[in-house]
Amino acid sequence: MLADLHTHSTASDGKLTPAELLERARAAGVEMLSITDHDSIAAYAELPPVEDLRIIAGVEFSTWWQRVGIHIVGLNIDLGSAALAEAVAHQHRARDERAARIADKLAKRGIPEPLVGATRFAGQGSVGRPHFAEYLLSIGAAPTIEFAFRKYLDATRVGNLIEGWASLPAIVGWIRAAGGTPVIAHPNKYKLTRSRLEHLTMEFAAAGGQAIEVVSGLQKPEVTRELAALAKRHGLAASVGSDFHQGGQVWAQLGVMPALPADARPVWDLWTL
Ligand code: MN
Ligand code: MN
Ligand code: MN
Repeated sequence: MLADLHTHSTASDGKLTPAELLERARAAGVEMLSITDHDSIAAYAELPPVEDLRIIAGVEFSTWWQRVGIHIVGLNIDLGSAALAEAVAHQHRARDERAARIADKLAKRGIPEPLVGATRFAGQGSVGRPHFAEYLLSIGAAPTIEFAFRKYLDATRVGNLIEGWASLPAIVGWIRAAGGTPVIAHPNKYKLTRSRLEHLTMEFAAAGGQAIEVVSGLQKPEVTRELAALAKRHGLAASVGSDFHQGGQVWAQLGVMPALPADARPVWDLWTL
């Protein structure tokens, strides 16, 4: 089973439309696909009917745990669920408030119309730091995106932004209430020590979490082994996803991933499909 259960479209920060993403998944031989946009399920309204591969409705929520930004993917969710709508609305409010705060700080530093400017670069999604960076570049306030982040947008300048997100138990609860499976996204990306990752996984499982991404894009075999063991210790299933956003990022190409270890329990075993 070639599954890719973590991808992004233009409904968040991906570069392909949902239909283009689907085409690319077909070309890559993906048999099971989930589009997991940041705090958004808008991609599913745009998706044409699909019969040749299995679509798993999904989403990726931002949350925090012990002051670290953590991402939780919700898979096999009921798109019409009220709990899901509530979760999306909460996260959008948090993003909008955060954008307003950033715009405020930039205005105080003499940047003209920061919110209006950044919104032009946001497409359909919420305004985030990358859009402010693009705007700063476009008006000549920064020579590069990296410079814009360093000089204007890093956490020490615009404040710690994770506090606005719903808590980990709230996110897990909403996903479960929407009939979905909560999954810790890319566990290796948070740079947690081994014991903190263990602790996060334990609290996630206690809150009702059901799986972790044992495979996240191209990764070393020892990472796969460690994450499979972590899942097993906590009675969690194993998910797989590339975290695809656009072409050219070789470590995160649609459908390009190592296989799950033979003894891992695939997350789709939890579902009656
Ligand atoms: Mn992203
Ligand atoms: Mn993520
Ligand atoms: Mn992602």
